[in-house]
This record gives sequence, C-alpha cells and structure tokens, in this order.
Amino acid sequence: MSENVLILGTGCAGLTAAIYAARANLSPLVLEGGQPGGQLTTTSEVENFPGFAHGVDGNELIGAMRAQAERFGARFEYDRIESVELAGAVKRLKGAERTYEAKAVILATGASPRLLGIPGEQEYYGGKGVTTCATCDGAFYRGQEVAVVGGGDSACEEALFLTRFASKVTLVHRRDSFRASDIMVRRVKEHPKVELALNCSPLEVVGGPDGKVAGLKVADKAAGERVIPCKGVFIAIGHVPNTQVFAGQLPVDANGYLVAGANTVSTPIPGVFVAGDCADHVYRQAITAAGMGCRAAIEAERWLAGH
Ligand code: NAP
Repeated sequence: MSENVLILGTGCAGLTAAIYAARANLSPLVLEGGQPGGQLTTTSEVENFPGFAHGVDGNELIGAMRAQAERFGARFEYDRIESVELAGAVKRLKGAERTYEAKAVILATGASPRLLGIPGEQEYYGGKGVTTCATCDGAFYRGQEVAVVGGGDSACEEALFLTRFASKVTLVHRRDSFRASDIMVRRVKEHPKVELALNCSPLEVVGGPDGKVAGLKVADKAAGERVIPCKGVFIAIGHVPNTQVFAGQLPVDANGYLVAGANTVSTPIPGVFVAGDCADHVYRQAITAAGMGCRAAIEAERWLAGH
C-alpha cells in the first residue's frame, strides 16, 4: 500500500510535520531513525521554545509533540532508511525492516553535531557539562568558566554568545589561524571575557568530584599538556547533516545540507519536501525546525490535493 505521506525523522521538524499532516487527515507514517526525538532529547532543559515561561525538558517537549501527532492519527515505526528512489510518482524507500512506498515524502532527518571523540566527552555529555549548543545551555553557566572548541564561525559565535553568561570563555582551537570570518575573529579577540587557547588540541574532558566537568585537557604546542579549568565544554566543530542516503538524488550544498528552492521547503523532485536541520545550517533551532515542518506538511497536503 502506498502511503499518502511518509515522514523521515522524529525531531521537532518531523513531529510538527506529523501533527499538521495528521490533522489534515493524511494519516502520515513517521519513521524514527537512529536518534528518536532528535537533538532536543540530548539537552536537559529547553528555555527558548515559545509557550514555556519556565522552560521545558527536551524529552518532555518531544514526547508531547509525539502524543499530539498520535492523537490525530499519525503512525510511528522504527526503521533506518538505507536507500531511496524518489523520482517517480510513487517514492520507494528501502529500510532495514521493510520497503515503504509513498506519494509524498517529508525529509526531516536532522543533523548530528560533530564530536571530538576524546575520553570523557560521552561520559559528561548533556547535563554534566559537555554540550554542543550554547543557545540551549549557555544560561546554565552563569558566572562560571567555560571552554568552546573550534575555530570556525560557529565556535566564534558560541564563544561570543556565552560571554553573556560565563565569567570567562576560553576558545580552544587546534591551529593558530581561524577558519571563521575576519569580523568574527576580531570580535572574539577584542572581547575582554574571551581568552584564546591556540595551537591547542583537545585530549580529554576531565571530571571533578561532583561528577561534572572540571576542565579540558589539551595538547598545547607551546606549553605541552595542560588542563584548562572550566565547568562547561561547548563543542562547535561543525555539524554533519544526516543526508548521506539521499546523495545523488537531491541537491546538497558543499557541506551536505539538502537545498530547497529559494524560500521554500520544496525540492526539485515533485512530492519531496524538506524540514529542519537536514536542510538548515543557518538557524538550527527547535522552533525554526518546527516551523519548517509545518510548512513542509502544508506543501505536501497541497501537492497531494493537486495530484
Ligand atoms: P567549520 O567552518 O567547518 O569549522 C569547524 C572548526 O572546527 C574548524 O576550525 C576546525 O579546525 C575545527 N575542528 C573540526 N574538527 C575538529 C576536531 N576533531 N578537533 C578540533 N577541532 C576541529 O564549521 P562551522 O563553524 O560550524 O561553520 C559551518 C558553516 O556555517 C561555515 O560555512 C560557516 O561560515 C557557517 N556559519 C556562519 C555563521 C555566521 O555567519 N554567523 C555562523 C555559524 C556558521 P580547522 O580549522 O583546523 O579545520
């Protein structure tokens, strides 16, 4: 049986698309992939999602979105899509469990933060001090020292954002020249709260007696191994969009993000729509992903009505 709408992904984008498609009586099938619930499930508290004056737990928010979609008839299955044929009137997606057919597809597969792969990183990830999102977690480090890892625009942006809360921000970069734009580098260098730790490669996230992050051990080309004391380690070394499976069928930019038409969520393939972080390297917020999910579902509904 061919589905009306198949939605890939259960982060904010996929679940919002599911709510809208289900309320439009399309009975969407939603596939959960490798990280059910998406990136929000990796952060403890979400303080910037509208409607929650006192913040909301990331898992709770995702759980509520899912329940809302189910209430209107969205169906959920767990599967990992391994190959796709999107071009035809019926889209075929082959998963590890079975093959799916759909008239319209919404791709909301998200992006995964690139991680360092050093000892302690996984152990202290989340509420214990290692994070990949200053916008989400920066406010938890009010008056404390933090480290940001990376030398691109993201790292500079995160470092500058964190100066609003932290007493000191050490920007740790493995080289002495930046990948970031000159203006960002200048802002970082001029900020009194930011200290640069250049030519420093992260070696290990060091924990304290409270079971939380106490520092970041680095290999400093000048000083040898040393520990930068900090309560938070913000990793900003780029994101990897989860789009590999669509390679060759849909346009992607140089970094692998799906490219929709200007100011749309439509792709060059009729009936294929995108939403959230797999197609957005600029905003990458829960609320913007939700907004794109809404748009993708409305576009899919209109497209189905016309065909
Ligand atoms: P990026 O430009 O790819 O920079 C990643 C940084 O992380 C690089 O400095 C890289 O070091 C470092 N890095 C990567 N792997 C590492 C590892 N294993 N250990 C230590 N360091 C590592 O990524 P991004 O900063 O996320 O930016 C992505 C794109 O978005 C860029 O085009 C950027 O301009 C854009 N962006 C723009 C803005 C803005 O305009 N406001 C804000 C954010 C992002 P090396 O330099 O040594 O390779």
